[in-house]
Amino acid sequence: MIVTAAVLLALGVLVYTLAVRPQDVSEPAPTSPADYLEERKTAITENLQDLQFEYGVGKLSETDYQETRREMQQELEEVERAGIGVEPASPAAKPAAATGTLCPHCGARFPQPLKFCGECGKPMTGGAA
Ligand SMILES: [Zn+2]
Repeated sequence: MIVTAAVLLALGVLVYTLAVRPQDVSEPAPTSPADYLEERKTAITENLQDLQFEYGVGKLSETDYQETRREMQQELEEVERAGIGVEPASPAAKPAAATGTLCPHCGARFPQPLKFCGECGKPMTGGAA
């Protein structure tokens, strides 16, 4: 009885560990590139609305308004262009895994996964290998 319970407990821990680990590894990056672009688009759109409001209440001159608005629209277009071809991130296909490890601190690239960067010596916390 006790042995059976111990075996079941050990099996349970093993299954729990194996079942939970992969999710834990893929979870720390909830923001996909598509989400990030979407966030930026929302932020710029909100800024544009603020700008229009401020211009409406007379806080901005015509020139300032037109200039800032044009800059924001350009930024919005850039974000939209960058969004073309960016698909929602799937945990299975990460480009970093195929091309090696990229140091999040100095940007140095290495062919194999490393715990610490060979260039700047900081921990490589970004890679999910
Ligand atoms: Zn580095």
